[in-house]
Amino acid sequence: MANPPSTTKADVLAAATRFLAALLVPLAFCRAPGRARFLACQWALSLRFPAEDLRGLTPETLRAFTHARAEAFWRDGQLIGLTSGHRDVAEQHRIFVEEVRRTGSVSAARRRVLPPEESSHVRGLALDVRPTEGARWLELHGGRYGLYRVYDNEWWHFEYRTAEPVRLPHPDAAAWTSDHGAAYRPCQVPGNGSWHHRPRPHPAEADANGRAPMYRGPAEDPRRRP
Ligand SMILES: [Zn+2]
Repeated sequence: MANPPSTTKADVLAAATRFLAALLVPLAFCRAPGRARFLACQWALSLRFPAEDLRGLTPETLRAFTHARAEAFWRDGQLIGLTSGHRDVAEQHRIFVEEVRRTGSVSAARRRVLPPEESSHVRGLALDVRPTEGARWLELHGGRYGLYRVYDNEWWHFEYRTAEPVRLPHPDAAAWTSDHGAAYRPCQVPGNGSWHHRPRPHPAEADANGRAPMYRGPAEDPRRRP
């Protein structure tokens, strides 16, 4: 992956995007008088993040994301771009297989990527966003739009939900809760908003004595899944 742009360059690009959005407001007003700022913001952000693809998201997810980032943009000057949204089954399968190959096991891969039948990206409900400042804004304010960060180990991954979910340590923990629901006892760590849990071992993870590996708390890993 290419090095992220320096802070200075990112700041200049953000300022240029805000300036462009302001210039586009009159044009957007001609197109949709009641939604001019919303529209101008989406146009400017699509130019700032030209690789983003909003197709395939559910209508509710798309609406929540675009409205949340319009508020972030106009109220707080914060830019939010989409790194990855909807993925089809074949793409998610390819990413999952790659991760299994990279990590050497299915159980390790599942901590970062889920197979297609379990992935919210395939259902059009998940959003990987950037930059980190935008993700932070969404983590603080996205709940108003039904957008929540759901994993401790993925600062960039948000999902559209109708109710606030309990944040899990990693993607595989969702399977742990469904497989071992009664044994899953999350407890919030005071002060830092993260969750530890002591589930029964995942069948693929248990050692010879049936003990689960210890979860050692959230890790902010900047590497993004594609
Ligand atoms: Zn994701």
